[in-house]
Amino acid sequence: MCIDIPATASGATRRGFLAGLGVTAAVGATFLAARPEPAAASTPGTRGRSSRTQIVPLGTAGGPIYQGSGRNGTSTAIVVGERVYIVDLGLGSLQQLASSGLAASATLPSSLANVSGVFFTHLHSDHTAEWPAMFATSPSNINGRTGPAIRVYGPGSRGTLPRVYPAGRPEPAVISPEDPAPGITAMTGYLTKAFAQDLNDRIRDNNAPPPSSLFEMHDIDISSMWAVDPEGIPPRIDPFPIWEDGDVKITATLVDHRPTAPAFAYRFDTPDGSIVVSGDTTVSANLIALAHNADYLVHEVIDAAWIDEVAASVPEPIREGLRQHLLVSHTTIEQVGRDVGEPSGAKNLVLTHLAPSDNPDGRWMQARRGYSGKVIVARELVAIPVRA
Ligand SMILES: [Zn+2]
Ligand SMILES: [Zn+2]
Repeated sequence: MCIDIPATASGATRRGFLAGLGVTAAVGATFLAARPEPAAASTPGTRGRSSRTQIVPLGTAGGPIYQGSGRNGTSTAIVVGERVYIVDLGLGSLQQLASSGLAASATLPSSLANVSGVFFTHLHSDHTAEWPAMFATSPSNINGRTGPAIRVYGPGSRGTLPRVYPAGRPEPAVISPEDPAPGITAMTGYLTKAFAQDLNDRIRDNNAPPPSSLFEMHDIDISSMWAVDPEGIPPRIDPFPIWEDGDVKITATLVDHRPTAPAFAYRFDTPDGSIVVSGDTTVSANLIALAHNADYLVHEVIDAAWIDEVAASVPEPIREGLRQHLLVSHTTIEQVGRDVGEPSGAKNLVLTHLAPSDNPDGRWMQARRGYSGKVIVARELVAIPVRA
C-alpha cells in the first residue's frame, strides 16, 4: 500500500487511516506535534538559470492526506533547457508548476507549453491526484501550443487485485468490478467521459481542442518481463528504454511497492548528467541497477520511528502486521543511503516523498550514515542544478 497515514499525526486524520484499515478500536492518545518546514527559499524560472539541466521538486510529501506541513503531494520536474519532464502529479503539483514558471512559454498563453512528458511511477492517488486536473483543463492550459502532444507514460491495466488485508477481514465489495484496476490510458478514457460536458462545451463554444489531441498516452508494456502479481516481488530485470527525446534518453525499471504493481522508477540521461526518480519502493535491486553511477538519485523515504509510533496506536494483535505492512513497501531513513545510495554509486541522494512530511531536516539527514555521496533533503521549488 501507499502511505495513508498523516504526517502531522493528528488524532482525526490518524483515526481516518485506521478506519480505512477496518480498525475501529480506540487509538493511542499521544501524538507528535506538527513541525512545519520553512518556506522555500527561491523560485526557479526558465531564464537566467544557473544550469541548463535542473531537478525542481514541485511536491515532496508522501501520502494522499493533506498534512498541514506546508509540503505538497509528490511531484518532481526534470528540466533540460526549455523542456520539462514531470514525474508524478501529487496534490498541489499543478499550482507549484505554474508558480515555478518552468513550463510556461514566453510567447504563448499556455502554462504547459514546455511540458514534454509526464511519467507516472504507479497509480496511487498521491502520485496521480492532479492528472485529472491537468487533463480536464488542458484545452485552456495548452492554449496555442503547436508542438507535439505531451507524452504520458504509466502502468497499464491490471487484471488482478491484491489480497484483503489484514488476513481474515471479510471480502469487501470490488469497486468497478468490470474494470477493477485500470491503467493510465484506461483511467484517462474514464476522465474523458467524466468531463464530457465541460469538454464538449468548450470544443463547441470556444473552438478548444479535445484533450485527446493534446496528450499521447502510453501504457508501459511489461508483459514480456512479468505477469504482474500484486503479492510478488518483481523479477530482477535490466533497465528498459521508454523514450529518446533528442538528447534526453529515458529508461525505466520495475521497483518493489507491493502490493501495488507494477511500480516504476525512471532514469533521465541528459547531456548534463543523469537523474533517477525512484517512485515508491522498498529497497530494490532493480532500482539500484537503474541508478548505477547516476549523478542524482531522487528517492522516497519513510521514518521507521514514525511507523513504530503509528503501530503503537493500534491493538496488539495487529500491531506487528501493520508495522511490517508499511515497512515492506517503502524505504527507511536507515536504508536509503546505506542500502540504496551507496551500492548504486549515485553521487547525490535527493530525499523526497517524505513520510512524515513534517520531520525536521536533521532527522532525514541521518540517511548520510553508510553513504559516501551527498544527501539533499528536497525543498519545493528550490532547483537543484545538474552537472555531471
Ligand atoms: Zn504508493
Ligand atoms: Zn506514494
